[in-house]
Amino acid sequence: MREPLVMLGVIFIVVGVALTFVTFGIGIICAWPLIVVGLILLLIGAVLPPDGRPVVIHQPPPSEASRNKRYCTNCGREIPFDSNVCPYCGKDFRSK
Ligand SMILES: [Zn+2]
Repeated sequence: MREPLVMLGVIFIVVGVALTFVTFGIGIICAWPLIVVGLILLLIGAVLPPDGRPVVIHQPPPSEASRNKRYCTNCGREIPFDSNVCPYCGKDFRSK
């Protein structure tokens, strides 16, 4: 439960600061605990992992090169998928 904690912290800080401004600074006497608690909630909310779930690490997609591997039918070497001519033996793959 990360977001509600952060929201609560923001609300506490906003209310505390608003109270300070509305009362021309006098309100800081009773508003500072609100701001302090708000900051603590904000920090806890920011540090804790959301719902204890493991942090999602974006897996790099399989590279196009490794997925589109192709082998020359003439010499058997690995060649680029989109190549029309084998760079090793010069075999032409374009169908005519
Ligand atoms: Zn070849």
